[in-house]
Amino acid sequence: MKYHVLTLFPEMIEAGFNNSITGRAVSDGKLQLETVNIRDYTKDKHKSVDDYTYGGGAGMLMQAQPVYDAFCSLKVKEDTPVIYLSPVGEVFNQKMAEELSKSDDIVFLCGHYEGIDDRVIDKIVTKRVSIGDYVLTGGELPALVMMDTISRLVPGVLGNNESAMTESFDDYLLEYPQYSRPEEWEGERVPSILLSGDHKKIEEWRLEESIKRTKKYRPDLYEKWAEAHPEYFEALEKKRRKAEEKARKAKLKEKTKANT
Ligand code: SAM
Repeated sequence: MKYHVLTLFPEMIEAGFNNSITGRAVSDGKLQLETVNIRDYTKDKHKSVDDYTYGGGAGMLMQAQPVYDAFCSLKVKEDTPVIYLSPVGEVFNQKMAEELSKSDDIVFLCGHYEGIDDRVIDKIVTKRVSIGDYVLTGGELPALVMMDTISRLVPGVLGNNESAMTESFDDYLLEYPQYSRPEEWEGERVPSILLSGDHKKIEEWRLEESIKRTKKYRPDLYEKWAEAHPEYFEALEKKRRKAEEKARKAKLKEKTKANT
């Protein structure tokens, strides 16, 4: 996977990416990063890349020409995704990251000031993506958020491929609670089920905990999960009826015993 980032602050992207897991993947050749400084493509003698907005209003706008010329300097295929980071866009999520992780190249365009002249966005961008309903000063942090998330899904980037397969948002559910050594810390014990060695029971416990957490923190996701898993509620209902029947029989047995 090769990322191409069009930005006014290449050093910000490089410092954020060439570290930790993504930095190791760059050294191993599993990921590549190219940054292009949009300012290098301005034709303005003062190296300026922004100007006033037509129609008035506060703030400056990045001009189309330097952005377009910076983009044209890239050697990418015609079908390469070109993403403009913007609050005006589809909200980024794990599913989008999974789709993008299948690309060989991705171009990220980072805005600044009040954004970028819309004509160049319409000309080169394939998708406008927001990382959430808030406004940042520039597109570099959103680009890094996306690059980090996508990179974890590129085969070989994580040491253990498994860990990217059973995480939050997998099938709409958030991740269950996890614990490491020691068994007891500050008087708090790890749930005994996790020490039982009974893998089936552990799986059941983890699913229950994931459901509880999702319901509490993300009712929107819980609803989607519930809709996709009617069989879970049918099984619960069956279990409830079985327990009721068992209790009824036990009561009857006790009554019969008392009467004899
Ligand atoms: N005037 C713009 C608006 O109201 O939509 C906000 C511009 S913002 C100050 C400058 C740049 O930061 C944007 O061009 C974009 O690249 C980036 N940015 C800010 N918030 C973002 C978000 N939530 N998601 C993705 N990019 C964002």
